[in-house]
Amino acid sequence: MKKNGFLKGVADLLFPVTCPVCGDVVVPKGRRICSDCKKMLPYLKGPACLKCGKPVAFPTDEYCDACLGRERSFDRSASVFEYNTLMQRMIGDYKFRNRKDFALFFSDELETGFKNHFTGEGIQALVPVPIHASRKRFRGYNQSAILCGELSKRLDIPVYGCLVRHKKTVPQKTLDAAERRKNLQDAMSFVEPEDFLSAGFKPKKVLIVDDIYTTGATAEACAEILKENGIEKVFVLSIATGNKTN
Ligand SMILES: [Zn+2]
Ligand SMILES: [Zn+2]
Repeated sequence: MKKNGFLKGVADLLFPVTCPVCGDVVVPKGRRICSDCKKMLPYLKGPACLKCGKPVAFPTDEYCDACLGRERSFDRSASVFEYNTLMQRMIGDYKFRNRKDFALFFSDELETGFKNHFTGEGIQALVPVPIHASRKRFRGYNQSAILCGELSKRLDIPVYGCLVRHKKTVPQKTLDAAERRKNLQDAMSFVEPEDFLSAGFKPKKVLIVDDIYTTGATAEACAEILKENGIEKVFVLSIATGNKTN
């Protein structure tokens, strides 16, 4: 047995993987979700907006109503799942109820999403959406940064932690799209990461990784700052998209 396999075997015994849908221990070992539960997941299929990746009603619709006739500061966005009640609970568990372990399951799905939507775009770095230090202290982790870290290992693309949240924002759900964007933009700034500076490498094409895409305000605020700072192409990959706000 290889060392890694052995260590993983020990880890499975000590910390059995529990299913993000039903909460039971997942069998067989090595899987991160029960096969029956996987069938319940709301994978996005069918026609999607060419800009933001939200489902559209007809295959002939190129853009959703929100993207039609307007510029977006990011180049293209895609999501893996529809944000339904089940996804709301799963992402909520991951983000707010300390199920950091679900990051492995979500990263598997994001890896497939990346391969389906962004292969060939020449993406050079993954950018986490920053959260304010006080929120990180309270929650213990930045869910977007963990997803970036896991995806980075799987795709062999470095994490470019260039966005910093220097100001706390009022809860986004009380604001409309324009206010959300302004609120976020004022709260973030761009700082060239030390490791990239010392390597003399400045990525030109990046992918923002986030949990939920709703109005696109977060993605747009991040993309705008990235483009003001020399990034040429900004793509966005999220776990789920929908019209519920979070
Ligand atoms: Zn299950
Ligand atoms: Zn759209």
